[in-house]
Amino acid sequence: MSLPLLENLNPEQRAAVTLPHESALILAGAGSGKTRVLTTRIVWLIQGGQVSPHGILAVTFTNKAAKEMMTRISTMLPINTRGMWVGTFHGLANRLLRTHWREAGLPQSFQILDSSDQLSAIKRLMKAMNVDTEKYEPKKVQWFINGHKEAGRRARDAEAFDEYSMRMAELYEAYDAQCQREGVTDFPELLLRSYELLYRNEPLREHYRDRFRHILIDEFQDTNTLQYRWLKLFAGPHTALFAVGDDDQSIYAFRGANTANMAEFEREFAHGNVIRLEQNYRSHGHILTAANTLIAQNAHRLGKNLWTAEGDGEPIRVFEAYSDQDEASFVVDEVRTLNREGIALSDMALLYRSNAQSRVLEHALFSASVPYRVYGGLRFFERQEIKHALAYLRLLTNPEDDGAFLRVVNFPTRGIGARTLEQLADTAARSGTSLWQAACTSGGKVAGFAGLIEAIKASTRDLPLPEAIDHVIEASGLADYYRADKEGADRLENLNELINAAALFSEEGGLPDAPGPDTAPDAPVATESPSELDRFLAHAALEAGEHQAGAGHDALQLMTVHAAKGLEFHAVFITGLEEGLFPHEQSTLKGTSANEENGLEEERRLMYVAITRARRRLYLSHAQSRMLHGQVRYGLPSRFLDELPEQVLLNLNRRDSARTSGVQQTAGRYGAPVSRNPGHDTGYKVGQSVAHAKFGTGIIIDFEGRGPDARVQVKFRDAGTKWLALAYARLSPA
Ligand code: ATP
Ligand code: MG
Repeated sequence: MSLPLLENLNPEQRAAVTLPHESALILAGAGSGKTRVLTTRIVWLIQGGQVSPHGILAVTFTNKAAKEMMTRISTMLPINTRGMWVGTFHGLANRLLRTHWREAGLPQSFQILDSSDQLSAIKRLMKAMNVDTEKYEPKKVQWFINGHKEAGRRARDAEAFDEYSMRMAELYEAYDAQCQREGVTDFPELLLRSYELLYRNEPLREHYRDRFRHILIDEFQDTNTLQYRWLKLFAGPHTALFAVGDDDQSIYAFRGANTANMAEFEREFAHGNVIRLEQNYRSHGHILTAANTLIAQNAHRLGKNLWTAEGDGEPIRVFEAYSDQDEASFVVDEVRTLNREGIALSDMALLYRSNAQSRVLEHALFSASVPYRVYGGLRFFERQEIKHALAYLRLLTNPEDDGAFLRVVNFPTRGIGARTLEQLADTAARSGTSLWQAACTSGGKVAGFAGLIEAIKASTRDLPLPEAIDHVIEASGLADYYRADKEGADRLENLNELINAAALFSEEGGLPDAPGPDTAPDAPVATESPSELDRFLAHAALEAGEHQAGAGHDALQLMTVHAAKGLEFHAVFITGLEEGLFPHEQSTLKGTSANEENGLEEERRLMYVAITRARRRLYLSHAQSRMLHGQVRYGLPSRFLDELPEQVLLNLNRRDSARTSGVQQTAGRYGAPVSRNPGHDTGYKVGQSVAHAKFGTGIIIDFEGRGPDARVQVKFRDAGTKWLALAYARLSPA
């Protein structure tokens, strides 16, 4: 076997890559080369002639990871990866349904609703059904529906034991019927529908079982019940399953991820064939020690430890900011310094627990002209103007899509009022047709709208995709609308970016989540390939947030910890390490103590994921006060900071005497405004000795703010100098 391929592997990795044709579980910690082993195995199998590229099914969790996998494969192996089934669960399910739309009972141009489209569809349904939205909150209906779908249950299988759940199940059923009528699906539907397709259609199932000789799954610890069942449907008697995962990185329990799948997989497929990898190649020693020590505090683990042959490296830098703005300024300073020292911006990541935290960071980066890219957050394809353009495109390919129809029938305004639309909806309901059909047979302005869509359709029919989109944006009136809008410049730019995205999509042939023609020689049915527009629309729905304007430029990476899974960076900043934020308050406040323990353990795994993204340098920061959701909150430092071994940490506040000698200097350095308080109204005075439950005893050295906002600065004997909110700190005179 070609040795260069195996040269860069340690003996355990090599054993995993070259396993014979049998199922196995690779259970290993972060940065131990799981993903490298998985991709190398794919190349090894193909190169050795053990399987042809179309006999491979490889699944991972994000489009970014799937793309990375494709890239790694094609650099090692000069083959056309296009026909390979490598992608995310949703991407592959979409591919299956596009190929077998007829058997799946879908129209050829079925569309995919993202989560906000889905919510609007539910609201529209509830309105038509006259459902009390106070009693049945649309969001809860959405959770109900998605939760059941993700567990593989249709409405008829949903357990309904009281009036409330019976009504929910009814709504679920009606929602599915509405989607079917309109030719749309949602994310969990992709998976459930393709599962049902294979489950019921034996010839098709047998075809795929025979075809896929090797199924490889990355991040297996995060599979949910339906995903695991979905995978199992593809596994025939000649299929070898290769699952790699790390129970310590399971971070999607809240979405139904089930680590029990790992034990079940071992029993059902691997039969004890478990390979462990313990050498970490990613991080320097101190970073790894921190990660190991932290995760050791979780009780529910399969248990493993990581070591590295690298030296200790640099200590982990801990920084206590005065406020979230101060934290952001600190990050900007450090990022610029590192960048000047030669670290690419794209090799640095700013991580946070919740999306809401990014605003302040973005503001500081923007003011300092540091290029950055946010993953998640307000996603590109979810921006208002992009959604409008996509709705026009959806109508071109599937006019039955009532959601798309309603979005743009009067945008830009065409004088079609709410009353007209109500009448139209009535007509449609009475004759059991879509709004589109009703519009076509009615007169007036709605008919004019239908005519406009028909005209656009005719003139874009033979245009290449980017030009077609350009034409839609102009002919629909969207471009003029935003040109006339004082604040429309950004939106126009985004619409241009949509055209660029389509051009890029065409160039790349729509990889990885949209299917090309199925080139497998033994394809079970002569498959018509979906139109490029349909593939692009699916891509827009599935890529959800991973496309960003200006992709390709060197930019600092901003994302939630969840989105950082599987990635690595030279330098990582974990910001907002405060109680209530990380660990998130929702995780620590859950009723029973068992739940609470589980919630906290999941947060700790999340912190473990965050720490192990760093290769060389790690920053942990927290702020004494933070503006979040319109409120100032004063958070104590995260308990996770206390759980790290002191000897690997470097306290930046203590080192930098300018910062410890009082808030005044801090303010000077980072411009945070401070309102002084002499302390008279607080019951304390400067110089007084006090005791704090966590930090021990200390002396008051300063005050600021008034009333409920009053804060006090205490120099603790053993815990450094801290600003504390009097209302929360529970100080007592000592
Ligand atoms: P995660 O749990 O975070 O997904 P992982 O186990 O998938 O991590 P990889 O991303 O595959 O780990 O590998 C981590 C880093 O170590 C990568 O940069 C990879 O190229 C490198 N690496 C893995 N194995 C080796 C090896 N044998 N020699 C040198 N570098 C290696
Ligand atoms: Mg990985």
